[in-house]
Amino acid sequence: MSNYHIETNCIQAGYQPKNGEPRVLPIYQSTTFKYDSSEHVGKLFDLVEDGFFYTRLANPTVDCVERKIAVLEGGVGALCTSSGQAASLISILNICDSGDHFIASSTIYGGTTNLFAVTLKRMGIEVTFVNPDSSIEELQKEIRTNTKLVFAETIANPSLIVIDIAKFVTLAHSNQIPLIIDNTFATPINCRPFEFGADIIVHSTSKYMDGHAVALGGVIIDSGNFNWDNGKFPGLSTPDTSYHGMVYTRDCGRTAFITKARVQLMRDLGSTPAPNNAFLLNLGLETLHLRMERHCSNAQKIAEFLEKNDKIAWVNYPGLKNNKYYELSQKYLPNGSCGVISYGVKGGREAAVKFMDSLKLAAIVVHVADTRTCVLHPASTTHRQLTDQQLLDAGISSDLIRMSIGIEHIDDIIADIEQALEQI
Ligand SMILES: *Cc1c(COP(=O)(O)O)cnc(C)c1O
Repeated sequence: MSNYHIETNCIQAGYQPKNGEPRVLPIYQSTTFKYDSSEHVGKLFDLVEDGFFYTRLANPTVDCVERKIAVLEGGVGALCTSSGQAASLISILNICDSGDHFIASSTIYGGTTNLFAVTLKRMGIEVTFVNPDSSIEELQKEIRTNTKLVFAETIANPSLIVIDIAKFVTLAHSNQIPLIIDNTFATPINCRPFEFGADIIVHSTSKYMDGHAVALGGVIIDSGNFNWDNGKFPGLSTPDTSYHGMVYTRDCGRTAFITKARVQLMRDLGSTPAPNNAFLLNLGLETLHLRMERHCSNAQKIAEFLEKNDKIAWVNYPGLKNNKYYELSQKYLPNGSCGVISYGVKGGREAAVKFMDSLKLAAIVVHVADTRTCVLHPASTTHRQLTDQQLLDAGISSDLIRMSIGIEHIDDIIADIEQALEQI
């Protein structure tokens, strides 16, 4: 499948039915799988034979979707999770132990910021948030002997800051640690971070990948390129006593990371996606390439429309030529960035609320990246846990309106915005 274009792989990768089998990926709604002998089941547990034994670890429907996503990102393997949060958590716990430290861009999603700053801290794992625009020399100062990874978002939610992936790759690799990229907003249609040297990718599939706002989910993809056997990652390069002495780097080769994530952490944490949700995710993936094109072209037109409107204080979209991140977006996202834009309405918070309440087509929703246009005021909703300083660090001003542009007809979306602006 890897020889096909990404559009073809969105549709066909991961599941190729044999003679007489269902044309469409079936939902294997079964927790368990039957075998004729105990010996066979033993071999499955030892990972010497391929097969399914319990849906917490692997399920045929989920497996096909994982294979598809691995192809789309160009990785050696993928692990689907019950949410994007679970994917971020597992990607970190698979590398860091209590006492370890890592670096994360300060502009990452609010939920991830909480997970890293609060919950991981309680588990003894410490994070340092860095300004993604810092120079490599400044970033290097934050690296400690126990720093185990660097984490950043391709396009930050909701500040839309585009990171210089190559700079973060250099930072990580010159310290023999991996770079994890949250590629949720860009999707593999618009950016494939492995092509720029990233080592691990995570997604909230709840966003564009599902694309219809019907199923929460996450995924971790392994590039297979990082050398875990450099002395810094004993969890991957020394025997796992909880999995009868398996040494992931020795026994799994290029799939060491993703195998450990599955057989150790998914086994223990159990944040498994339901087969039915994997089926829905697969349906979403089949049109991902078409939807991303329209999300991006609609968002570009609306950003340009808002820029010219005198009731608008500012517009932030990486596709605008005067945007601070235009150059980076041309380098990493030449076909378009995402369908999310942010802007401020003149008159501050009060005008913003009046404007949002006057929208008819666009709904106020705590979600982004599905087919329907929606709006949100992050400072009073998704990011309300953050302090004012954290908000600023995350690139969010108190008047910021986040609008996720859907794939409705562009004229209808613009007409809706126009009539709502007239109310203020
Ligand atoms: C939504 C989101 C998450 C969290 O994903 P859930 O599926 O909601 O758990 C993580 N990262 C980014 C960039 C997101 O937008």
